[in-house]
Amino acid sequence: MFNLILFGPPGSGKGTQSEKIIEKYGLKHLSTGDILRSEIARQTPLGMEAKKLMDKGQLVPDEVVIGMISSSIEANTQARGFLFDGFPRTVAQAEALDKLLKLKGTQINAMISLLVTEEELMKRLLNRGLTSGRSDDSNEEVIKNRIAEYKSKTAVVADYYKKFDKFFEVKGEGSIDEIFNAICKEIEKEMDA
Ligand code: ADP
Repeated sequence: MFNLILFGPPGSGKGTQSEKIIEKYGLKHLSTGDILRSEIARQTPLGMEAKKLMDKGQLVPDEVVIGMISSSIEANTQARGFLFDGFPRTVAQAEALDKLLKLKGTQINAMISLLVTEEELMKRLLNRGLTSGRSDDSNEEVIKNRIAEYKSKTAVVADYYKKFDKFFEVKGEGSIDEIFNAICKEIEKEMDA
């Protein structure tokens, strides 16, 4: 298996690039944000609880997202590999992911991080809010909270993978194809490694 984490702050382009990566490499896309939004759309108890936090720009508890990822891994035993998007967002989530993958006899091959300036993030998210229908994109305060959560809890997850020499950075500004090509270069280096 080849298992990849696409990493970066809210608005860094993970969703856009994920679509292209899974198509090219045949990976199964696991986005905790997408799974949570589908729980909200189906008005499940989990979705209703998560929505309260998401609308404030706060993270959903670790045990909730870890449970979701664990079920998704179980449900896709035939996958050639996984692309994790929006997960892990805390060190506890990273540790849990390692354990889950180890039980399946596999591991994370690489974390690729998209580098985007804060001004650009704010611009992209407010712009996405005009069309996405996502309540967490339409309010500047909520976006600021998401970026603050990223800085205080998520940015350190990069250090976790640096320790294992699995961390790679790609410039997240430029055209979608330029960024995609830079990501593919990193992926293929790791696939050949
Ligand atoms: P973005 O990267 O644009 O913030 P996501 O779709 O990844 O969008 O996440 C939206 C929201 O869902 C987050 O602000 C957070 O509340 C919640 N969420 C998603 N993934 C996680 C996670 N791994 N841990 C905790 N909360 C999460």
